[in-house]
Amino acid sequence: MNRRGLCLVLAAPSGAGKTSLSRALLAGDSRLSLSISATTRAPRDGEQEGVHYFFRTPEQFAGMVAAGEFLEYATVFGRSYGTPRAHVGEMLAAGRDILFDIDWQGFRQLRAALPRDVVGVFIRTSSLEELHRRLVARGDDPAAIAMRMEEAEDELAHQGEFDFIIENNDFDTALGDLSAILRAARLMASRMA
Ligand code: 5GP
Repeated sequence: MNRRGLCLVLAAPSGAGKTSLSRALLAGDSRLSLSISATTRAPRDGEQEGVHYFFRTPEQFAGMVAAGEFLEYATVFGRSYGTPRAHVGEMLAAGRDILFDIDWQGFRQLRAALPRDVVGVFIRTSSLEELHRRLVARGDDPAAIAMRMEEAEDELAHQGEFDFIIENNDFDTALGDLSAILRAARLMASRMA
């Protein structure tokens, strides 16, 4: 049976384990591709153009906004991030599924743009204290931790807008939950051709 691809959106406060979970999900699923965003932030060590992000100047980003090249875009941690429209429509029509690592603002816009195709999953820790402990453990500096905790509260305030919430206390359990959500979403009658 043919079906349109789906958009699996993962959002989370920084430190909740979203990046590790999305990597593991992608590694174990050949039908799932990652949407590569454009951003105005600088590349971090090891990040490659076109693999992790399309790195753009604020002027280039503004030009892409004006040209209508984004499916959604938002300001996160004071920098611009956006999902280029190119490829997403093509991949969906070809029945490929796409994983989006974006924030709650992007999720809202994506759901409005593609109401039938978006499944939203929010990943969180059991408490803000646990999130703080993880940011300290991964070696973030105190100023970055303070900013990320503030942003986390903002992100958490929107968790109720998502279809699913996963509490990431144990990596394997959380990955199993995420795989189950993707599997069930693929079987939704409303998206079968
Ligand atoms: P980072 O700079 O740590 O890679 O990402 C910071 C935040 O921006 C993360 O929460 C990430 O999900 C979000 N983000 C990354 N790309 C996009 C995008 O294309 N659109 C939106 N709305 N958020 C994004």
